[in-house]
Amino acid sequence: MKADVVVLGAGIVGVCAALHLQTRGRSVALVDRAGPGEGTSYGNAGLIERSSVVPYAFPRSVPTILRYALNRSSDVRYDPRDILRAVPFLFRYWRHSSPGNLAVAARAMLPLIEASVDEHDALIEAAEAGDLVRAEGWIAAYRDPRRFEQEVADAAALAPHGLRLSVLDSPAFAALEPSVRTGDGGISGALHWLDPKTVRDPGELTRRYARLFERRGGRILVGDAGSLHASGQGWAVRTGGGEVAAPDAVVALGPQSDTIFRTLGYAIPLGIKRGYHRHFTLPEGVALRHAVVDEEAGYVLAPMRQGVRLTTGVEFARSDRPADGRQIALAERKAREILDLGTPVEAHPWLGRRPCLPDMRPVIGPAPRHPGLWFSFGHAHHGLTVGPASGRLLAELMTGAEPFADPAPYRADRFGPR
Ligand SMILES: Cc1cc2nc3c(=O)[nH]c(=O)nc-3n(C[C@H](O)[C@H](O)[C@H](O)COP(=O)(O)OP(=O)(O)OC[C@H]3O[C@@H](n4cnc5c(N)ncnc54)[C@H](O)[C@@H]3O)c2cc1C
Repeated sequence: MKADVVVLGAGIVGVCAALHLQTRGRSVALVDRAGPGEGTSYGNAGLIERSSVVPYAFPRSVPTILRYALNRSSDVRYDPRDILRAVPFLFRYWRHSSPGNLAVAARAMLPLIEASVDEHDALIEAAEAGDLVRAEGWIAAYRDPRRFEQEVADAAALAPHGLRLSVLDSPAFAALEPSVRTGDGGISGALHWLDPKTVRDPGELTRRYARLFERRGGRILVGDAGSLHASGQGWAVRTGGGEVAAPDAVVALGPQSDTIFRTLGYAIPLGIKRGYHRHFTLPEGVALRHAVVDEEAGYVLAPMRQGVRLTTGVEFARSDRPADGRQIALAERKAREILDLGTPVEAHPWLGRRPCLPDMRPVIGPAPRHPGLWFSFGHAHHGLTVGPASGRLLAELMTGAEPFADPAPYRADRFGPR
């Protein structure tokens, strides 16, 4: 089989890259070892996070670092057996999180974040996926009144971004979310970010985008990306439908992208931030209307087709370690303080892996030493959000079109020539 491009990985990033290449006239084969949207893109919190104009930084305040070091928080945990291995990544992440470097990272991500909702909207319409998406924003909720006041003040600093925001005192929040506890021990105030959209089933959204790609003539094949090899003037990969050869190949394997780039000798510092989710069926008469982030406890509650999805913050542990139930158990305990979660839907929580670079932006662009090979991975906390915009940028670079955003911040060689 021949194609113009083989895209490896059918998560939100690979599917959107495939769609954008197709729109620009390329014949594309999309290869995954499983079905579309079954990796990290299945289990996220579903936020198309238009308001996230500052990336998630490593904390710089000593009390916060000490709190995390104690390893009792629900928002960030680590496996002590793996922490030494993680130190080089964490050190770089910490360095890139200084106020000056964070401003650079925020500027670098901004074009993708700003384009996120519009780029999704175009695909949502074409893929007939409107039933999966709501345009009611998400709510950042605070228990500590002083923290709430501080966050209101901090949000004012984002005014130049023109984000739509509603500040909710406790009664106003209760009017929007009557089942969530307010007052003593509950939510004292909240920020309702109105620009973001939310997805009721991110895995299904990725599948609908993949179906659109097929309807437009794209091929989806099951195969192991590890079989990628140079072939003639391009690349080839073995699939269940036979070998597919193409002049160009895209590595969009999310947290498993190192399978390819490490083998080819690239020392890109891809780190993994693990995270969990579990669905709950709320009792009769209890409802959750918006995605709510309990900011002090660091988890998200999001209404999904499968039930209310509780997603955790970050766990630093080796990617292949078995799931550790402690973080989600802690998040569940905290969540039950403010909402009657009812019963879990699944017997075991889902474990996902956010693919992260220490400078808080993905790698999007050509592989420096391998003509015809392209990278698109490391979308971290915002892969659902920026998947379509990232796919557009990659396709523009690959087809020689004028890129809508400066691609320099995403170059693969920014970590060194190798
Ligand atoms: C708990 C949690 C909550 C999150 N919440 C949000 C959110 O609200 N908003 C947001 O924007 N982002 C969120 N994210 C991040 C987002 O989910 C990721 O950034 C995004 O899904 C990454 O997409 P991807 O396509 O790069 O990777 P993936 O979705 O993991 O796709 C990679 C694909 O590669 C395939 N693959 C891997 N190895 C091979 C191989 N050897 N051969 C063939 N195929 C292979 C996999 O099967 C998979 O389909 C969250 C993440 C987590 C874990």
